Amino acid sequence: MSDPEIHHRAVESLLEWFDSRNRDVPSRGSEDPYAILVAEIMAQQTRIATVRPYFRKFLELFPTVEALADAEIDQVLKAWEGLGYYARAENLHKTAELVVSRHQGSIPSDVEALRALPGIGPYTAGALASIAFGQPEPALDGNTRRVLARLFDLEKPKARDLENAARELLAISPHHPGALNQALMDVGSTICLPRHPSCEQCPLNDPCLARARNTVADRPAPKPLPPKPDRHAAAAVIRKDELLFLWKRPSGGLLGGLWDFPHVAIENPKEAAAALEATIKSEWGLSISVGKKLQSVRHVFSHFRLQLELHEARWEGGAPQHEDLWQWARIEDLPNLAFPVAQHPLISDLVGTRRS
Ligand code: SF4
Repeated sequence: MSDPEIHHRAVESLLEWFDSRNRDVPSRGSEDPYAILVAEIMAQQTRIATVRPYFRKFLELFPTVEALADAEIDQVLKAWEGLGYYARAENLHKTAELVVSRHQGSIPSDVEALRALPGIGPYTAGALASIAFGQPEPALDGNTRRVLARLFDLEKPKARDLENAARELLAISPHHPGALNQALMDVGSTICLPRHPSCEQCPLNDPCLARARNTVADRPAPKPLPPKPDRHAAAAVIRKDELLFLWKRPSGGLLGGLWDFPHVAIENPKEAAAALEATIKSEWGLSISVGKKLQSVRHVFSHFRLQLELHEARWEGGAPQHEDLWQWARIEDLPNLAFPVAQHPLISDLVGTRRS
């Protein structure tokens, strides 16, 4: 099969296959650029099945870009709680504000204008431009790159090679860029899986060069994963009468914008009490005495594993300086605040103990 033949067969098969199926992707069938934007941001690094209930709830709470722009960031983070990668929620909120202030409430259709919005990279800009606005722009993420590398049997393709391959496919069917991109995304996320591709069920089975040459397992050539380091930290659940001390994690950082118990990185669990007392004094100006361990939580982040020791602590004196970055919260109010998922078992215990 010659190159142009491969391209034509691939596009024909993908569009036919996409037309015949009805995958329950959150925004599928919607032409509302705002709904498509929310779905695309939520789906970054997250499985579709996980996204679905969040997407529905989010659009109920913030049905328009104006409603999202008007919302408090704490409400947005609460609706995002548990979905992870919280910088996405902060960026989506900022994007809504900019769409209202700069673009009169209409999400721009142009890729460059989309990429100028917070949290919108080349993939999301391409997905939005093609799906919501019918523009022949590629949407390349890990899934679509893998499909293209296998379809054209490219061993170590550069970003430019894959973009060119995607543009060549889009040029064959300029009237269906959204359907073509979504078909590639769906093949990548459901059929052409990294380790166990289901070539027999794949619409690209016939034109796929890697399948024909028996190189599927090596396309693209796998990159060795760096090992995840182990980190240790201790956190203090500081009580002052019936109140607990919480701080707000800095916007844009890991779990940014969420409420949390103050913590400190440690090398050895035996250092926990002394390290917490010293750090909480120097960073927040609070004198505390650290008591027994309440819980030990293990959490895996994208780049490291964390072992977190949570200790009870008593406030002895002092007051924090920064106005907006902390609060003394009542235990019954904890379920209304957005916390990292690693703290949910502790929050349940604290609230449960309070009720019993
Ligand atoms: S035929 Fe196999 S390797 Fe080729 S695109 Fe389909 S699932 Fe991937």
